[in-house]
Amino acid sequence: MPYAPKVGDSLSSLDTPSMIVDLDLMEANIAKLFKQLLPTGVNVRPHSKTTKSAILAQKLVDAGAKGGCVAKLSEAEVMCEKGFPDILITCEIIGPVKVARLVELFDKYRSIRIVVDSEQGAKAINDAIEKSGIGEAITTLIDLDVGLHRTGVQPGEPALNLARLIRDECKWLHLIGVQGYEGHLQHVHGYESRKEQCLESMAILTTTVEDLRKDGHKVDVVTTGGTGTAEFCASVPGITEVQPGSFLFMDTDYRNAVGTNYANSLTILATVISKQGPKAITIDAGLKSLTTDSGLAECKTLGYTYGVLGDEHGSLTWTEGKDLQVGDRVEMVPSHIDPTINLYEVYYGYRNGVIEEIWPVDARGRVQ
Ligand code: PLP
Ligand code: MN
Repeated sequence: MPYAPKVGDSLSSLDTPSMIVDLDLMEANIAKLFKQLLPTGVNVRPHSKTTKSAILAQKLVDAGAKGGCVAKLSEAEVMCEKGFPDILITCEIIGPVKVARLVELFDKYRSIRIVVDSEQGAKAINDAIEKSGIGEAITTLIDLDVGLHRTGVQPGEPALNLARLIRDECKWLHLIGVQGYEGHLQHVHGYESRKEQCLESMAILTTTVEDLRKDGHKVDVVTTGGTGTAEFCASVPGITEVQPGSFLFMDTDYRNAVGTNYANSLTILATVISKQGPKAITIDAGLKSLTTDSGLAECKTLGYTYGVLGDEHGSLTWTEGKDLQVGDRVEMVPSHIDPTINLYEVYYGYRNGVIEEIWPVDARGRVQ
């Protein structure tokens, strides 16, 4: 029989490395987030840059989310095709090739939302939609820099000028609001200090929104926030929407910053393939299975220290505890969830050691 894991199989039947999800923990994370945020009245538009999965985006809608976000246009293409077209694309769409792809997607799915942060970007999309003859304006938000210094127009006059340009010269962009994502604050250690910095950042956002309203612009959507800050953002009057992504699964980097409110529900199942010393073994998960940009992954069982031995290999060493042997299996907790998921084709969701759900990583590799 060819290797083809299916629902009902046991976890032990999986080959490794495999990406596995403890469904009880993931469902508890989802329940926690919505229990905390929905009573505030804020809309939750979870970020699917983390999961890259239409099934998971739909699960979140079933739990109370309103739509979803993706980072890139090519992710939006996949989500739309998979039946999830209520999508905000949170990165700027720049260049004739991408703009053409956007217009093609918009022609089929009028519900997609975009952000712009420049006159050139806004005009190029406007002109392409005009030329297409679609005859409908695309829902657009101004992307504002609230301190991340990644994308976003500067607050004050630059933001006002962009809004005026959209109103006066971009008939095919329908401005509904502002995105001001404070990504630099998601991992600030310490609840109080993260909260304080977040509220300062939100003041930049809400002040700009007031400036825009005074200037005659209608601002219905004010969207921001991630796993580390969503609760603070939701407490600010005027913020209408938050975009958390990582809370479903978490990672060691996030856990170190924000604590264990959300559980590490996703691990990489790996196999000990070689013994290299009395207290040193090699597993079949290296750089191609666990990303290292945010530090090294951790073994779920405490006491074993991970090291990278190359593309395909990693080490585990220990001083006390059970000696690992060739053939043993271990679970590794990723240090940075989003790029780790992008390394896998499927998730295996399990309960009590049995695979209960299998979800494709639909937008895997979709970085355009
Ligand atoms: N919104 C935007 C624009 C993002 O870039 C990200 C993540 O980088 C998020 C929301 C979600 O953040 P997190 O995964 O930290 O919850
Ligand atoms: Mn990330």
